[in-house]
Amino acid sequence: MTGGIEAGGTKFICMVGSDPQHVEAEIRIRTETPEKTLEKVTQFFKPFAESGKISSLGVGSFGPLDVNPESPTYGFITSTPKPGWRDVDLMGDLKHRLGLRVTMDTDVNAAGFGEFHWGAGKGYDPLLYLTIGTGIGGGYIKDRRPLHGLLTPEMGHIHVRHDLKEDPFEGVCPFHGDCFEGLASGTALSRRFGENAENLPDDHPFWELETSYIASALASYILVLSPKRIILGGGVMHRRFLLPGIMKHVQQELNGYLDHLSLLDGIQDYIVTPGLGNRSGILGAIALAQQISK
Ligand code: ZN
Repeated sequence: MTGGIEAGGTKFICMVGSDPQHVEAEIRIRTETPEKTLEKVTQFFKPFAESGKISSLGVGSFGPLDVNPESPTYGFITSTPKPGWRDVDLMGDLKHRLGLRVTMDTDVNAAGFGEFHWGAGKGYDPLLYLTIGTGIGGGYIKDRRPLHGLLTPEMGHIHVRHDLKEDPFEGVCPFHGDCFEGLASGTALSRRFGENAENLPDDHPFWELETSYIASALASYILVLSPKRIILGGGVMHRRFLLPGIMKHVQQELNGYLDHLSLLDGIQDYIVTPGLGNRSGILGAIALAQQISK
């Protein structure tokens, strides 16, 4: 067994287990200050660590994160706007408190990794996992590992086709305005429609626009990364009726240029929803820990 943490801005999910069918313990902790939160996390894992039931811990965390092992701030949450959490040595603190081997990745890479091991991404390498929720982010699994580079990919912040005449909304991203996240995230929806966003009817004309933004981004990812499958998760994607429109728009964007069955008649099997429901992230953290366990 290994330990896993899905570290989010509102809650930390902690788990001990070995796969989706074998979960020994699980707990949800409200995200408070780093000190308070990590103390509760420690209380949960300590008995498993001390008894030798687990020797490694995987963390999928909100970010931005430093995942470069050569860096002096490796394992830190870096420039997050979340109060109190900037420049927090999350990995070092957990190692120190629990005496475990600890590995860390972005929440979206962890979720992609979970889907790759046990969910809708099994057997698909490379795999793209995209979450469209409060924010938008992508995890990319290639050669059985999450992709890192100079930093970690920030797929929510690419620009998508935005016709200002059709949609004069200026976007909500504090850095880029109308990037993909700025236009199409749950936060953007709330800004557009207020508290009604949650209850926006399925036949509201806005959804046509939303599907076109998602499809525009997906077409770019397909052209650049050539994933063998794309998994769409996150709160906005609970609106399952969006999927056929997204598929149609992706095909329109690519316009037949990429001649592969997966992008033509097989597209329903190419763009899919998560196989692990809302457990992709925490199970991905378990899978990450397995990479470093003996
Ligand atoms: Zn942005």
